Amino acid sequence: MNTYLNPKNPNRILDRGAAGERLSADELLALYDLPANEVAQAAHQARLRATDPEIATYSIGGNIDYTTVCTVACRFCAFYRARHQEGAYTLSFDEIARQMDEIVRIGGLDVLIQGGVNPDLPFSWYVDLMKMLKTDYPAVHVDALSPEEILGLEKLTGRTAYDLLSELKDAGLDGMPGAASEILVDEVRRNAAPSRITSRDWLRIVDAAQSLHLHIPWVGMVTGFGETLAQRVEHLLALRAQQDRALERYGSGFIAFKVWPARLENTRLKGTVPQKSAEETIDEYLKNVAICRLALDNVANHRAVWRTMGFAVAAEALRSGANDLCGTGSINAINATIVAAGKHLPDPNQALLVQVRQCIEDAGFVAALRDPYYNVLARNDRKTEAMTPCGNSRSR
Ligand code: SF4
Repeated sequence: MNTYLNPKNPNRILDRGAAGERLSADELLALYDLPANEVAQAAHQARLRATDPEIATYSIGGNIDYTTVCTVACRFCAFYRARHQEGAYTLSFDEIARQMDEIVRIGGLDVLIQGGVNPDLPFSWYVDLMKMLKTDYPAVHVDALSPEEILGLEKLTGRTAYDLLSELKDAGLDGMPGAASEILVDEVRRNAAPSRITSRDWLRIVDAAQSLHLHIPWVGMVTGFGETLAQRVEHLLALRAQQDRALERYGSGFIAFKVWPARLENTRLKGTVPQKSAEETIDEYLKNVAICRLALDNVANHRAVWRTMGFAVAAEALRSGANDLCGTGSINAINATIVAAGKHLPDPNQALLVQVRQCIEDAGFVAALRDPYYNVLARNDRKTEAMTPCGNSRSR
């Protein structure tokens, strides 16, 4: 057989991936055996075709963790607390408002609000929260509640996800993060978190959100639960199929994708699944970034996670298939305590944003500030050293 036509020929797989062609499960699996630099190059070519080749984007926003109380008790989670355990909390609306004030003060455009599955909070609490946010912070885009939290509300109320999300949308919800997917293979999920939302329910709830045209800011893949490479591919193909469905039926789908390694310190899963060294984790992360870009040919934006991997690795990810530097949110569980104490966070324009833009420039791109829909708002051309507002922002 002509080697070029042989589907198992590595060069052919890389060429097809670089051209944005759809790769099969076998081809994606084969990528894991190829040299990392070659896979990264192909993914980078695919990224340059799919998004503006000159820029890499970043955003300014905040994360608010509204409660740590959760009854799902995932074995990989160090965040959740039982009701009366030390560290258990649920923020009041006043405390949430204080964090929102800080997000607005630092120029935040969006907020991501997530917590645990807390059975003490009635559905009306969430509806009232959305109304408060839309009334008091109309300019801030609100993504909130993972499919897991929506499933918890289905169980609490006996209502469907579609019904609940519809009411939340009317109250002010703009979008639902595609969190809680990790690896959408139930065998893996049962080991990592026996009570976790099933793959089927996750896809059902995401589909309900997409049918309502709610913004899905990102979906992801979390590695390191002891999953096989074939199970990673199975996960990516489940996301790709859902994206195809959503684009065809509803005209919109996932805005972005990100992959990151699980952090298992202080969790019950640690020690029960194979561990990797720091160097192995970085190599594996970068290869995953590239393979995910080649697998998800129908998701335009792929994020590099500097908060988990650091700026140097994130810059490498921007040359391996990613086009966005995420994690710029400046309010989270750690520094929420700074806000609660009445202090201000460091001005992101003076510190964090300098590092974010430098990381993008180190990767060879112009840093561009984006909104939650990836419309470019301003770009930082190195020659001008100034943020230039964009006259023609475009949607991706
Ligand atoms: S559902 Fe979320 S908060 Fe609750 S234990 Fe699992 S990962 Fe943690």
